[in-house]
Amino acid sequence: MTYDNQNIFAKILRGEIPAIKVYEDERTLAFMDIMPQADGHTLVIPKVPATTLLDLPADDAAYTIQIVQKVARAIEKALDTKGIVLMQLSGEAAGQTVPHVHFHLVPSSIHDMRQHAAQMGDQDKIKALAEKIKQAL
Ligand code: AMP
Repeated sequence: MTYDNQNIFAKILRGEIPAIKVYEDERTLAFMDIMPQADGHTLVIPKVPATTLLDLPADDAAYTIQIVQKVARAIEKALDTKGIVLMQLSGEAAGQTVPHVHFHLVPSSIHDMRQHAAQMGDQDKIKALAEKIKQAL
């Protein structure tokens, strides 16, 4: 699929719009979801331009999932969560709203999560949660 380099996450990667970051290295970035489906909802993205999981080169997929695991561990430690939903939507037909591949880490139960990308969270609360996660990394 053709990559749209004007998508929101591409702009975050270029530093054109802000994000509440929790982790960054040469190949990945993790930041807080602004419309969280649960407290601590975090996104992990590879930096390589790829629209969906199906476009992601295998070595980037392999590397990114290690960072997903690392951030999940930090969320568990920081928020004392009992379970984390790992969600990945590939394609508009699946409900994907931002066309840069990303992994959702939602510290919740599949039965309790709030609606997807529906309501802005409280920025101060999100920042405080991000600080906790960063400290646990
Ligand atoms: P998806 O629908 O799987 O593509 O998920 C996109 C996610 O990005 C949603 O959960 C949105 O709440 C979230 N989101 C949209 N814009 C931003 C932004 N500027 N910063 C952080 N998260 C965002």
